[in-house]
Amino acid sequence: MEKKDFKSMRYDEILREMELIGEKPFRGKQIYQWMHEKLVESFDGMSNLSKSLREKLESSYLCEALTPAEVLTSKIDGTQKYLFRLTDGNVIESVLMHYKHGNSVCISSQVGCRMGCRFCASTIGGLTRNLRVSEMLDQIYRIQVLSGERVSNVVVMGTGEPMDNYDNIVKFIHMLTDEHGLHISQRNITVSTCGIVPRIYQLAEENLQITLALSLHGSNQEKRRTLMPIANKYAIEEVIEACRNYFEKTGRRITFEYSLVGGVNDTEEDARELCELIGGLNCHINLIPVNPIKERNFVQSQKKVILNFKNKLEKCGINVTIRREMGRDINGACGQLRKSYMDRAEGEET
Ligand code: SAH
Repeated sequence: MEKKDFKSMRYDEILREMELIGEKPFRGKQIYQWMHEKLVESFDGMSNLSKSLREKLESSYLCEALTPAEVLTSKIDGTQKYLFRLTDGNVIESVLMHYKHGNSVCISSQVGCRMGCRFCASTIGGLTRNLRVSEMLDQIYRIQVLSGERVSNVVVMGTGEPMDNYDNIVKFIHMLTDEHGLHISQRNITVSTCGIVPRIYQLAEENLQITLALSLHGSNQEKRRTLMPIANKYAIEEVIEACRNYFEKTGRRITFEYSLVGGVNDTEEDARELCELIGGLNCHINLIPVNPIKERNFVQSQKKVILNFKNKLEKCGINVTIRREMGRDINGACGQLRKSYMDRAEGEET
């Protein structure tokens, strides 16, 4: 019989499981805290359980941790990129960033991605598989243990499309915010999506206080389509309407992400169209100077073009920030560390 993934079970599920195997509920509480608060790597580390109970758990359940394959630390701002190996041999990447308001971890939600955004390195090899809840949680747990620093904010902006792994993402949010675990505030969690419309409506009904970040990257349907294949499925107006609904249902202000690509989506006309598109919405826009990847020939917009773009949006009353580049020296765009690792591994095999 396949072992159940213990670390992907909610608090109430663990308590029920304990009942099923004839253990007292307080054991369930202890075990949940070992995994999600004290962040042990295996049943062996649960030192207040008897050896026989640990062996019993070991025979029916999995309690697995990710292993760090590579850790890069920026000399400029201390940002750390972690490459983790999963138990099936796949690798994923996560990032730890230090801000004045606390430490933020950016996690991956899938191994690879099938969304095909033109400028993104994570999607080049396609989708391998969804991450399990435990694998998303453990990116944060291992970073907190390895760095010795407390994580207060989590952004789901690494490799993968979270709305393509919907059920696991919602469960992940519940477990990350559970009082018996790390107990991170929902308001400190951001989930970024390329715009899978039905899922945005569904998420609005989950009764969560998280921030939704929407990857826009185009000021109209035509331009968005050239950068993001998902736009062939959902028109830009439908996406904006879904965001409006998300705000109305949750009261949470939407963040739009707009990667500025030199000569592609950074003109004055683009800024004007963008104002019209999102002008009436309670939102914030985050401009990201595109991070060039070697597989594509996109370039960053010039500094003055970026500032001009920002000014134009601000004149329309839109709240704008330009994304600060963290860990410039270890950078490489989203998904590049994993990609370069896999390219190297392939080179070794042949
Ligand atoms: N799939 C989700 C989350 C992952 S990417 C989404 O699409 O939102 C997080 C953000 O980084 C997205 O806005 C994505 O479009 C952007 N991004 C990816 N590669 C980039 C690059 N090379 N330069 C700038 N932004 C990039």
